[in-house]
Order: sequence, then structure tokens, then C-alpha cells
Amino acid sequence: MAAKPFASSADLGEKQQTLEVLADGVYALTAEGDPNIGAIEGEDFLVCFEALATPTAAREWLARLREHTDKPVRYLVLSHYHAVRVLGASAFGADVIVAHEKTRDLIAERGEADWASEFGRMPRLAKDPDSVPGLTWPTLTFSDRAVIELGGDRGQLVLQYLGRGHTEGDIVAWLPKHRILFAGDLVEAEAALYTGDAFHRDWAGPTLDGVAALGAEALIGGRGPVTHGRPAVEAAIAQTRDFLQTMIDEVGAVHARGGTLKEAFAAAHASLVDGYGHWPIFEHCLPFDVSRLWDELSGIERPVVWTAERDREVWDRLQG
Ligand SMILES: [Zn+2]
Repeated sequence: MAAKPFASSADLGEKQQTLEVLADGVYALTAEGDPNIGAIEGEDFLVCFEALATPTAAREWLARLREHTDKPVRYLVLSHYHAVRVLGASAFGADVIVAHEKTRDLIAERGEADWASEFGRMPRLAKDPDSVPGLTWPTLTFSDRAVIELGGDRGQLVLQYLGRGHTEGDIVAWLPKHRILFAGDLVEAEAALYTGDAFHRDWAGPTLDGVAALGAEALIGGRGPVTHGRPAVEAAIAQTRDFLQTMIDEVGAVHARGGTLKEAFAAAHASLVDGYGHWPIFEHCLPFDVSRLWDELSGIERPVVWTAERDREVWDRLQG
């Protein structure tokens, strides 16, 4: 059997982008499993949610958004620190860049390494990589909750930290008036999970409980289509939880009996492939996912920093 190409390095075909207007002044752009982004109109300003991988990629999104509104971007909200979500920030000209306080710490600690790692794993997303001026630094951070008053009768945009999950500092953006939730990578709809920087047990338990408790009627996950209606929202949350729990069970069993990382990878792959193997980035993510979960079960509290070199090492060991 030929070796699998590293991560998403061979996935170079353009994805179809779809812009949906979910309510008056609420926009989501999805892209067949590539990172999703959104925007919310205030009375005289815009809040953008996520920034894509490069300013060039972000400018294409902004050009589409500008067909609907010419309001200036006051806030750029970043759900977490991952490079393919944040490094396009300079294109927005935002007054304020908002993130969780842990996200700022993580950018300081591992932003450079993550940049090299993610651009190597997903070269297609790194459109015109030289357009990135440097790391993206949040200018406003919070620990639990922050509220943006949208003005007029537009209600509030509530930014919330619901616990450790996909990273140490994920936040969601919640529009109570419309019951629309931008969930970032805490929920994926019909896309595989990346858990290489995750806290699997917190995420599968209290953090997803917190997401579900909001009672969203539309949810934009990190990847995959917008889910419309309570049943679809609940299904997306359940899928995310099932993916995590299956990994925890399979990797946990191998770990408990003193097996090897490679055996744990094989067990997790065998259990997940029928349900999730056809979804975007499944083969790409799983070696990194199992590797982090193995560390977590071994008592390594915080995710080990991924570097371009470590990526290749883990890949060759598990997918090679
Ligand atoms: Zn992420």
C-alpha cells in the first residue's frame, strides 16, 4: 500500500464557498469542510467571526460580505488561536480583536510553531502566505463572558467561554435574539474533529454540555454546513461528542492494557472509519488526535507544541 500523503498536503482542489444569510444581518460562509467564518451586523458596525489563514483569503471573504453591507469592522472575534483561523486578521482593519485570555497566551507561547505546522499541513488554505504580516494579537481578552451590544433592535452578541475543549481557550458567539450560535471548532458538522491541541474529557463532557444548554436553533460549526433547526443542531453536537467518546474509549482501552500508540491509532481508526472516514480531514487529523489523547491519558496536562518536524514524525509513525 502506498504511503498516505502528509496531512492535507495533497488536497489542493478549490472548495465551493456558500454565503448564507441566517437572519437580518447575520452571515455565514461555509466551504465544503474548509474553515467556516461569519459576520454579524450591529446598527453602524460589523462584528466578524474568524479571520481565515491569510489576508489574501480574508479579502476574498470580505469582498463577498461587502455585497451585503459596507459597515466598518469594529470587532474581529477569534474563537481560538489556530493559524488557519487567525492569520488573515490584518485584512479586516478591525478596531478591536477579541479572544479568550488563554488564546492570547497560547499565541505568545506557540503561535510561531503553530503557523509553520498548520501551513505545512494545509498548504491550500495558506493562500498567498507572504501576505501574512506576522502573528495576530488580540487587543481585548476576557475569561468567561463578554457582551457586544449591537444597537437598535438587534440585541446582543454574547461571547462565552464554556470550558476547555478543542483548545485551552475556545469561545463561542451566541445571538440570543435569533438563537444562532457560532461554535468555532467546538462543534463540527459532517467534518472530522481536529483534537491535537484538545482536552478530550472536558470537551466531551461539561464543555459540550454547555454548548447544548444554549439551545441554539441554528449552529455554525468550525467546518461543514450550517445546521438549521434543533434536531440538526443536536445531531451536530452529538456527532462531535460521539467522535470524542469513541476515541476516549478506544485509545483509553489500549493505554490501560499497556499497549502502544500505534495500536491505539489502529483501534481508534477502526472504530471511527465507518462513521466518519468519508468526512473532510479525517485521515489528516487522526494521527495528531490520537497522539494528543495518548499524552492526555499519560498525564501530560497541556498539549505538546506541534512543530513542522514533530508533525512529520508522528505522521510517519502512525500513517506512514
Ligand atoms: Zn482549530
